Amino acid sequence: MLKCYSYDIVCQEIPDEISLAVNISCCPNRCPGCHSQWLWEDKGEPMTEEMLSALIGSYSSAVTCFCFMGGDADPAEIQKMAIFIRQKFPGLKTAWYSGREELPEGFDPKVMDYIKLGPYKEALGGLKFPTTNQALYRIEKDGSFTKLTIS
Ligand code: SF4
Repeated sequence: MLKCYSYDIVCQEIPDEISLAVNISCCPNRCPGCHSQWLWEDKGEPMTEEMLSALIGSYSSAVTCFCFMGGDADPAEIQKMAIFIRQKFPGLKTAWYSGREELPEGFDPKVMDYIKLGPYKEALGGLKFPTTNQALYRIEKDGSFTKLTIS
């Protein structure tokens, strides 16, 4: 079960998209220097299909992308919810900010339009730093990854 700790409408996370970004709690990654330690806790509203329908329905005319921020504790549920969003809101793109080094086995990248991979490493900086270890990819129709970040 995923839990939605908070959400926001953001423009920076995914290029050329206005994203409804949902912060998911229970993060298992424990990155040293984590900027969002409150997301380690088991808190928030359960992310169900009904909850997502209501939330996205409220903002569907304002956003072009739905971004899962976290959710590494339950990637299978991320995949399931991304499939649901694609079916229910076909015009909306889907994105996942994962803190893992690579996708978990069995996860189908084609359920996403964008995927960010890599844990936060304080010495290397976040996604916007040229030294970062993290990378944002666009997922092509055949499931291949096109790297969008420059590091
Ligand atoms: S993945 Fe993000 S929220 Fe989780 S520990 Fe790392 S920096 Fe913190």
